[in-house]
Amino acid sequence: MLQNFLLASEASAEASDKDKADWVEAYVNQIDSVVFAGLCRGRGSPPNPPAQMFKLVIFQILKKNLSPAKWAREVLSDSILQTLISNIIPSRTALYNFRDRLGTIIERINQSLIVLAIEHELLEPSVAALDGTSVRSYGSRHRIVNLKTLTRRRNELAAAISRDDSIVTQTELPSWMGKSIDGRLLQKDRYDKANAILSQRIVENAGKRKQSRRPIDEIYISLSDPESGLSRDKENVYCPMYCGQILTDAKSSLILSMTLSNHVTDVGTIGPLIDQVKTSLGITLKDIHADSAYASLLDVKACLERNVNLLAPVQENSLTKTNQSKKVDKQLSRDQFTFNVEMHSYTCPAGHAMPYFDRDNRKRVNGVVVMERFRQSTEKCQACSLASQCLRGAKQRSVTRVIGQEVIDAQKAKMTEDVALASRVLRAQTIERTNADIKQRIGLRRFGVITLQRAKNHLALTIFVLNLMTLRRLIIEASKHAPATT
Ligand code: SF4
Repeated sequence: MLQNFLLASEASAEASDKDKADWVEAYVNQIDSVVFAGLCRGRGSPPNPPAQMFKLVIFQILKKNLSPAKWAREVLSDSILQTLISNIIPSRTALYNFRDRLGTIIERINQSLIVLAIEHELLEPSVAALDGTSVRSYGSRHRIVNLKTLTRRRNELAAAISRDDSIVTQTELPSWMGKSIDGRLLQKDRYDKANAILSQRIVENAGKRKQSRRPIDEIYISLSDPESGLSRDKENVYCPMYCGQILTDAKSSLILSMTLSNHVTDVGTIGPLIDQVKTSLGITLKDIHADSAYASLLDVKACLERNVNLLAPVQENSLTKTNQSKKVDKQLSRDQFTFNVEMHSYTCPAGHAMPYFDRDNRKRVNGVVVMERFRQSTEKCQACSLASQCLRGAKQRSVTRVIGQEVIDAQKAKMTEDVALASRVLRAQTIERTNADIKQRIGLRRFGVITLQRAKNHLALTIFVLNLMTLRRLIIEASKHAPATT
């Protein structure tokens, strides 16, 4: 089945546009036409052939053209593209619609590429590397508001809409408000949606511990893409963004699975990814290499439950220690308190027992962890010679311990310096390269769409194109090592 693709791939290791068009044609031609059938709604005027449209999209992404508006211009000017798609001339609107509809089949097409690679013995997935990558949303970073501003604008918008019933044209409108009646109605829908999502975020914030809670005026929402998360990107710009999790085969660099969310954290994402690879591709992973963000209790437990060996260093080994060593008035760290399992208490550096005090639940993405607090008595602390290093102005000392800390301790013991170094090298060669390819080779630094689902479809398309490039490389390498036939 891959023979045509192989022949096209052998043409040149350094692909010209003509080479790219050849292997897009060869690969898409071998996809069962039934896969594309779901893209046609079965009503209205006859659609452009979906397989040709798909070739157009893939060829354009390979050329780092990510916008359907650009595709529409290329259709009229690129002769290689015109030949590839049999001279059809889809409109700009048709291209935008087709890109959105591709979301229904792109995961299936991605999975079939992985299955094909396994069938042709180009892929034996058992070791994978995982990392997150954040990509800016199409939403503007200049249109971020808090509840106070949003409420004021909604009130002003409602008043303007109520005045729209009169015959007088409204001229004295604020610059942010839609200038037409239809524009204001659409804006109202968008602001209502933003209000619902912001209210939900405020409720979630209220459920956090006092130390982690943000003042209500510091909880923001993007008005142009309310579903996006808000955080600082790699250039330290506070903007709307989505966070993708990418799981890559460590040997071939083929991307096995991905998710996209508006949570700007990696914690709690590993279990669903392992399950996804198992159910959709039938792949049982043995080892997963990841950075310290994945060595949380929830992730380590998720791997243990699924019999997967997680190779991720526990965070305090690096960053926390470096940060602590920079502080002049260092406080005695929790490591200097000894936990006694039988007594269920700590022994503090002064040698006194430190009993259990209370516990609280802390919410994480995909789960909850329970923290127990152990507290020393005020009398002992105030009379202690170590008080100046231990208390830092407090009357008594407390330390916390997560229920299941022994799981983290075992992970810490497993990640010796040699293991951690080998894992870091492997990640640099695989997943960090993949994430760089998404941004450099494909040029996906910002989604050209709003809403989570559309951004997810966009990332899935990007991943398919990257996998296609990787598959081509694997085929070329395999053909070089294959015994010569006479
Ligand atoms: S200050 Fe309190 S907790 Fe710290 S070492 Fe002294 S007695 Fe123990």
